[in-house]
Amino acid sequence: MITNFEEILKKTKNLNLNNYSKTRNYLNGSVTKLSPYVSRGMISTRFIFEQIIGAGKPIKQYEKFIQELAWRDYWQLVWKHKDINQDLKRQQEEVNNHYIPKNIIEAQTKIEAIDYSIKKLYDEGYVHNHVRMYIASIVCNIAKCHWKNPAKWFYYNLIDADWGSNALSWQWVCGTNSSKKYYANQANINHFCNTNQTNTFLDHEYSVLSNIEIPKILSEVVDPNLDFNLQCSEPIDIDNSKPILVYNFYNVDPMWRKDLDANRVMLIEPSVFREYPVSPKSLNFLKSLSKNIDGIKFYIGEFEDLSKNVSNQKIYFKEHPLNKNYHGSEDKRDWLFENDSYYPSFFKFWNKNKKSLGL
Ligand SMILES: Cc1cc2nc3c(=O)[nH]c(=O)nc-3n(C[C@H](O)[C@H](O)[C@H](O)COP(=O)(O)OP(=O)(O)OC[C@H]3O[C@@H](n4cnc5c(N)ncnc54)[C@H](O)[C@@H]3O)c2cc1C
Repeated sequence: MITNFEEILKKTKNLNLNNYSKTRNYLNGSVTKLSPYVSRGMISTRFIFEQIIGAGKPIKQYEKFIQELAWRDYWQLVWKHKDINQDLKRQQEEVNNHYIPKNIIEAQTKIEAIDYSIKKLYDEGYVHNHVRMYIASIVCNIAKCHWKNPAKWFYYNLIDADWGSNALSWQWVCGTNSSKKYYANQANINHFCNTNQTNTFLDHEYSVLSNIEIPKILSEVVDPNLDFNLQCSEPIDIDNSKPILVYNFYNVDPMWRKDLDANRVMLIEPSVFREYPVSPKSLNFLKSLSKNIDGIKFYIGEFEDLSKNVSNQKIYFKEHPLNKNYHGSEDKRDWLFENDSYYPSFFKFWNKNKKSLGL
């Protein structure tokens, strides 16, 4: 995964989206893998959209892709306005436990595309969107686990970890944030993942699949081990004559207030990471991306400690649901649409706003 900002910009400028809408659901389809950069706040959905326009591409032809960018913003806005740690619209039905099947964690489900993708999750920190849906469906709707702890396991291992997209997608699959549970059978997985398996626990018609007993291979459940150890850092040198720009896990934007002569601090708050732990791989990815910001210093500690004795006029940060404890000058994030209100459904949000993009 590239981490140099110039190369990331080049990748964003040279997107080939010609086959995107036809192939995006296939495991080998032409998706962009931009999510790690969007999730870390390095580039915004608006920025990606502007690259498409700037390249003179006929945007109508890329509507599906732009709609996916809007999904990202939509989940962020729901997170901004609602408590997404609760079952959002209705309670999850038929919950058997709050753990996760051991054979999911160990990539031993015997469904080839699933085991392959879980190994990739550990190796690379990325899983194709369709397989993310399959995994969530197996865990919540076949093994009947509550969505939240499995979502935390997934978030921990993804380098594009974004609690908004993650929690709300798990909730969409298990029916707490949608009108029905999402199921995929073996034939569907074979079609999109180029496998040819039969006689698996998913090899049923849908009318049967939605009523099967928990398969034996999924019956042993475990509490995922999400180790996250942080030592609080030594105090860092702050030049008190200059303002402080506070970066964090969701804001690694090298262009943000680039010309301001300021202290630049990557704030790693233990209280946030205790609630939302991430893997060493994910943290290393953050560190590599941060190298694109000149002079940035890592500070492991709470905002309150960092900002002690610093006046509000001297602190800048970007708005985010996990920053509600920050004080100082809050900058807006870039959104695809100007409108950042809450909508109860994605398609209401999309249909109301897409005209502003010329769609
Ligand atoms: C159970 C589950 C958990 C998920 N967890 C995360 C997560 O922690 N972090 C994360 O970034 N995404 C998550 N997603 C959303 C989606 O799977 C990824 O954003 C997508 O796979 C990223 O790959 P890409 O950049 O190649 O996407 P592309 O298909 O190339 O799409 C371009 C961009 O559009 C946005 N996008 C595309 N699909 C979605 C989607 N379904 N929801 C929201 N935004 C989307 C992303 O910013 C993406 O980079 C999850 C989806 C599911 C079903």
